[in-house]
Formats: sequence, structure tokens, C-alpha cells
Amino acid sequence: MNLILMGLPGAGKGTQAEKISTEFGIPHISTGDMFRLAIKEETPLGNKAKGYMDKGELVPDEVTIGIVEDRLKKGDCAKGFLLDGFPRTIAQAEALQTLLTNLNKNIDHVLHIDVPEEKLVERLTGRRVCPTCGATYHVIYNPPKTEGVCDRDGSQLIQRKDDSPETVKNRLAVNLEQMQPLLDFYKDRGYLETIDGDRDINEVFKDVRNLIEK
Ligand SMILES: [Zn+2]
Repeated sequence: MNLILMGLPGAGKGTQAEKISTEFGIPHISTGDMFRLAIKEETPLGNKAKGYMDKGELVPDEVTIGIVEDRLKKGDCAKGFLLDGFPRTIAQAEALQTLLTNLNKNIDHVLHIDVPEEKLVERLTGRRVCPTCGATYHVIYNPPKTEGVCDRDGSQLIQRKDDSPETVKNRLAVNLEQMQPLLDFYKDRGYLETIDGDRDINEVFKDVRNLIEK
């Protein structure tokens, strides 16, 4: 089962990815993990990527694609894989199609966890952090016992600047602008499955599982 998972920040992609990976026994391959592994193993492409990253430069597509290729060739991908955070551009999506054809593989589904923007804003701006112990809360989904106060040590909780409404809305807009062409790309090719992510985690996963098993 070869899957690509897509969704905006706050859509619950990470949670669903873990559940899919466990249920179907396929590795969850996030771009960050893939780069970290290649760099740690000091593969030729890992070293190349590190060179760019150390200089604060973007890693070129050909290097990224090569790292994806190395990763998909590993034994744990024999039964399938779940890509998360890749591809990010149409050029990468096209390169992935070529790569998969060469590896005699195919994409089965592209799963898009869809949550309305106002709900994403609600989820992402509701996070509160304890400056003393680092515990995180959510004003709606995981509130502390006393509003605004850490359960563990009684510190006043704070909202990170990254979680302010303005920053969150901006981040979502940037991400959507990047993701929309990919959704269109996969929709045109008949791979795209949209899942209503504005529900309980297990409800969402039930749909995901039905789609995968269909
Ligand atoms: Zn605390």
C-alpha cells in the first residue's frame, strides 16, 4: 500500500500517519526523518544535503529525490510506505511519478485530511505552553484544570508567538498556496481522496481505513 498523506498544519496529519503506519505495517516517511537518516548514515546524498543545509540553502530537488529513492528502496518499504511532507511541489510530484515507475511501484492513494480554515485556526491558536516545565495544553482539546495555570507547577501558561492568530493565518495561507497545486495534480490523475478531518480522531481514521481497504 503506497500512500501520500496531505493536509494543512493542525489537520491531524501526524496522528493519522501514526495510526496508518501501525495498522497497515508500513513506514511513516516524513521528509524531516528521511533527511536526518541520510545525514546520520552519511550517504553520498545525505552529505550533499547537509552541505546545503549547513550553508542555510535549500536542498535542490535532485538531491531530495535521490534521498527519497534511497529511502523507498529500503526493505521496510516492500509492503508499502506512507509519504508525509513530500512531494511539496509539482516538479517533485512529477519526479516521484518517474521514480516510482522505475522502481516498478505505484501510488495507491493520496489522502487529504481536510479541515476548514477557521477550525485550523481554532486548533492552532488554542495551544498554551508552560514556560517552566514545557507542558503543552489546549484551551479546548486539552485544558489545564485551572484556566491559564500549569497543572504541574502552577506557572502562568503562555501563548507562543507562533500560535498567535495572525501568524497562524499567515502560515495556513502559505501552506495552502503550496499544497493546492498538488491536490489538483493528484485529483487530475484520480489518486486524490478527501477525508473530512473535522471530527474525532478515531472517526477520521475509520474513513481512512475504509478508503485504504477499499
Ligand atoms: Zn509547568
